[in-house]
Amino acid sequence: MGCIFCDLSVTKKDEIVLENEHFFSIYDDNPISEGHSLIIPKEHVDSFFKLSPEQVNNMYELLGKMKNAVDERFNPDGYNIGINEGRDAGQTVSHLHIHLIPRYRGDVENPTGGVRHIFPEKADYTKKSKK
Ligand code: 5GP
Ligand code: ZN
Repeated sequence: MGCIFCDLSVTKKDEIVLENEHFFSIYDDNPISEGHSLIIPKEHVDSFFKLSPEQVNNMYELLGKMKNAVDERFNPDGYNIGINEGRDAGQTVSHLHIHLIPRYRGDVENPTGGVRHIFPEKADYTKKSKK
């Protein structure tokens, strides 16, 4: 079976926004917010935890550069940054990718909890009464 992200870096080169030695970035083609981007290793690897320290550095560098590019183009008010690590955590493409998700003031009624919204009813822990 082919891998869409391995193919993408060859067949859809024009979609690549930025790249460095080991990573490239693209805009997600099903964006959940304006500017939703993916930071993807050029080499096929399924897990963040398999990256070498050099690759992690490289990933961090491109994440920062893509953030600056998204800031400039879309001027968001915040970001969620996330990896779906494994099918049971929601990963659909088994080629590692970091989601860089711009957030805009008022884009949801109550953003408190951010990434905790994978379990919507547990997201806003500040509402729980602490005894
Ligand atoms: P996952 O669910 O694996 O964390 O996320 C896969 C992401 O890749 C989804 O947000 C999906 O919209 C995006 N995606 C899948 N195929 C393509 C593609 O061919 N091009 C682009 N730009 N994004 C893709
Ligand atoms: Zn791949």
